[in-house]
Amino acid sequence: MKENIYTHDHFNTWQACKSRYYFKYIKKMGWPDFEGDYELGQNFHALIDYYLRGFQTDKFLEDASDELQAGWELIKNHPILDKNLIKTEWGFNSRIGNTSNWLTGRIDAIFYDKQRNKYIIADWKTGKYIPKSIEPNFQHKVYLYALYSSQKDLGLEFKAEELEFQYIKIRDTVSINTIEFSREKEAGYKDSFLSIIEKINAVKSFIKPDTCPINQCGFKNLCYQ
Ligand code: SF4
Repeated sequence: MKENIYTHDHFNTWQACKSRYYFKYIKKMGWPDFEGDYELGQNFHALIDYYLRGFQTDKFLEDASDELQAGWELIKNHPILDKNLIKTEWGFNSRIGNTSNWLTGRIDAIFYDKQRNKYIIADWKTGKYIPKSIEPNFQHKVYLYALYSSQKDLGLEFKAEELEFQYIKIRDTVSINTIEFSREKEAGYKDSFLSIIEKINAVKSFIKPDTCPINQCGFKNLCYQ
């Protein structure tokens, strides 16, 4: 049966290595993608979600690791948390155009900046892994497209130019990488999703890699045995 539900990781994996996509999403072979700081990331997301929902964070922080406490010290007074909160941990299922393909995912938080008239998709990044080059990454493309096309589900009505995505890196300091949105980007993102999906649907068997693009990949033995 053909898959018709995609996350940003489907597209990122396909873009990085077709063989990896084959093992991970066609043969459905599990492999831990994260090492070391996965737990920190999970706890940090839970802590900010907890805070944004209006709960006291003291108890949460009592037994927290030093890294989690240090991260919280960095972000707790940051202006992003003072914006109007629209939604925290918003799960979405958004159709791609009028096709039978869907995007799915979970946005960390959505804020509204009244002064700038901007809706902001906030993505907390706490791990050591932050994409070096932001633009080719599919996470912001999927999230921007999904929120824009499903805005009515949240009772919102805004133009494409009134939406942006922020990668918010919280490590030693807080640094923000902003991606603007537009109607042109909406069309371009949709075309890129559908073009990849078409190629994915054409894959029938293992794609022998010429070279390996990822140093630490758990499928190494399968590619080069
Ligand atoms: S080992 Fe290299 S070529 Fe093989 S799936 Fe992983 S990244 Fe791709």
